[in-house]
Amino acid sequence: MTQVDELVSGLLTDLYIGGKAVPAAAGGRFDVLDPATRTVIASVADAGVPDAMAAVDAAADAAAAFAATAPRARAEILRAAFELMTAQREDLATLIALENGKALTDARAEVSYAAEFFRWYAEEAVRIDGSLGVAPSGSNKIMVMRRPVGICVLVTPWNFPAAMATRKIGPALAAGCTMVLKPASDTPLTALAMARLLEAAGVPPGVVNVLPGRRSGQIVSAMLHDPRVRKLSFTGSTEVGRILLRECADTIVNTSMELGGNAPFVVFADADLDAALEGAMIAKMRNGGEACTAANRFYVEAPVAAEFSRRLAERMAGLRVGPGVQESTQVGPLVNDEAVEKVDSLVSDAVSAGATVLTGGGRPRQDGCYYEPTVLTGVAPGSAILREEIFGPVAPIVTFETEDEAVALANDTEFGLVGYVYTGDLARGLRVSERMDSGMIGLNRGLVSDPAAPFGGAKQSGIGREGGHEGLLDYTEPLYVAVNW
Ligand code: NAP
Repeated sequence: MTQVDELVSGLLTDLYIGGKAVPAAAGGRFDVLDPATRTVIASVADAGVPDAMAAVDAAADAAAAFAATAPRARAEILRAAFELMTAQREDLATLIALENGKALTDARAEVSYAAEFFRWYAEEAVRIDGSLGVAPSGSNKIMVMRRPVGICVLVTPWNFPAAMATRKIGPALAAGCTMVLKPASDTPLTALAMARLLEAAGVPPGVVNVLPGRRSGQIVSAMLHDPRVRKLSFTGSTEVGRILLRECADTIVNTSMELGGNAPFVVFADADLDAALEGAMIAKMRNGGEACTAANRFYVEAPVAAEFSRRLAERMAGLRVGPGVQESTQVGPLVNDEAVEKVDSLVSDAVSAGATVLTGGGRPRQDGCYYEPTVLTGVAPGSAILREEIFGPVAPIVTFETEDEAVALANDTEFGLVGYVYTGDLARGLRVSERMDSGMIGLNRGLVSDPAAPFGGAKQSGIGREGGHEGLLDYTEPLYVAVNW
């Protein structure tokens, strides 16, 4: 038995409800595939509506006792989860590389990042402050406390199967909420492995329930229409976010939405070009391009555009593409065939409208869900590749002449998650940052994600913030007491 076989044979593949592994009530299962080979890694229980209701029952049964635990006790559980996740980093990274496809280096970085949400919220759990003030009339005191928001439904995507879950579970536990996590069907194994990890860290039965299931629309809708459910935290596409916002309207469920992005990466001619290239490689290629924060469009000032494009193409062409679990791999396969087809059609569309391929531009010869690291220049304005999330290893480059033009191009999208700006003039960097319509900016930096910072988007990229102190407050409901004494 190889190490990977051994890892897979020990995995939880049933639903995790009320602290127990249970099969789906209707008995269904579905296969999880390795995108490097398209072979089956494991078969996982496929939840239906009755299972979703059982998970909400379990979360409801555990809710009062968990809300009443001491903040310090919840902090200790979160700290233990951080320690366990750190200790299990290699196994979790291998699992992520297997079911998602990303390179082990990316998977290891994800596990470390994911664990940091447990550490950060272990530190935050004891800082759920209220306030006390005097009414302007002087007639009474205004006392504000924060209570757990209630039962949460957490829906996560496949691109960061661990971190997108811990970014929600961490603050929900810190606030004293119970929850049902619905992971993406492409990557349920990591979420199930985390259920076991959280159990070992001391999370009581019913507090965290994990519900893999391919009928995501039905099971999430059923939970959102149960009046006991008080919050939805969703990370995924803007398209599905829009559907879920409509669903939440029926029962006025509190929502946090982390949706799609279309990040501009702006390079001014006065930038340190070495640093800009380094940042571009991180912003574009972290996770093989499958990140909501991925640089989707490069805008480069005319005097440095040719040099930047040539050097970026050299760096991209030098990347080693292969199975995520192979130690030497720098870029793994995309998550599935549909993802490859989407990337390929965006590239073909740009090329037929006149773009030049500096490197890549197609599928490599090896079998599996691969796409070549690609750089395009001369991309026509209005091309689909500049408007839609590529979610793959492709960098389209457009040239600009003035600061105003760069800002206008950067903001020409309905998305507003993150933007990147490289310039040697800090005043210009801050000025342009202020003018960009997005929730986050990387200023002379290709990576913004940090558990201690408020992550989230403006415009159609989302509502609310995850991480930081803001991320904790999103799992609380303020209680205002007008009081005389
Ligand atoms: P997705 O198709 O929107 O799916 C996300 C989750 O929603 C999955 O668990 C999916 O389950 C579930 N889902 C799909 N249709 C649903 C429905 N009708 N009702 C309820 N749940 C439903 O997104 P994805 O392809 O997994 O992830 C990629 C997207 O996520 C990109 O747009 C990316 O930008 C975004 N993202 C955003 C952030 C951020 O922080 N802003 C972070 C990471 C990713 P199934 O897998 O079973 O379909």
